[in-house]
Amino acid sequence: MKNIILLAPPVAGKGTQSKLLVEKYGLAHISTGDLLRDSLKEETDISQKIKDSMNSGRLVDDEIMIELIKERLSKPDCMDGCILDGYPRTLKQAISLDQLFASLNRKIDYVFYLDVDKEILRKRVLGRLTCPNCKSIYNDQIENMNSSNPGICDKCNHTLIKRQDDTEEVFSVRYNTYINEVEPIIVYYKEHKVFYDIKSFGSAEDVFSKIEEILSFN
Ligand code: ADP
Repeated sequence: MKNIILLAPPVAGKGTQSKLLVEKYGLAHISTGDLLRDSLKEETDISQKIKDSMNSGRLVDDEIMIELIKERLSKPDCMDGCILDGYPRTLKQAISLDQLFASLNRKIDYVFYLDVDKEILRKRVLGRLTCPNCKSIYNDQIENMNSSNPGICDKCNHTLIKRQDDTEEVFSVRYNTYINEVEPIIVYYKEHKVFYDIKSFGSAEDVFSKIEEILSFN
């Protein structure tokens, strides 16, 4: 059983690496961004608050996030290990996650830090297209990453969408928020000896093989 955290700036490829990890190791994929977007399909007291934070690139409150992750981690598919994509994003979330795992007699085994240059990320964000149905990710600005039929998902034929927060302006807020929050999280996981720095400038396959190598040695 493996519990893995993918720690990375926005659009660094957490979603793509998660898919590859799910295919190879059969772990449950927990994307807090997807959970939040799905939660917005129903009108609740807090949905406007969540929507405002997401659309402006700010983080959703820790209290909301901690509850959301607690509920998701209690589901049966997580019992054999999971990939946390987009969580934790603050030190408070990281500490409460350890407490939650400890209460379930489990622990974080690996934190993979996907390190990508800001300029690369900025280019990626502007071309990203996502499938709201099966969550596949495409990019119409990057060779070999577009869908065969423009605007249509190759896997489920659903119409692709551009996320509302994938604009230059919102990306800038998301990136700065990330930089402000990530350092103490890195220090925390280094102290816990589960931190692995993955230089992520190559293709998705190159990045995945670096992750696979670490998983096979430990
Ligand atoms: P990306 O990794 O490309 O920024 P995500 O889909 O992971 O995209 O997240 C989109 C938005 O959802 C974030 O900008 C933030 O507003 C919110 N969000 C996701 N995960 C968290 C979290 N762990 N804590 C607070 N807010 C979060």
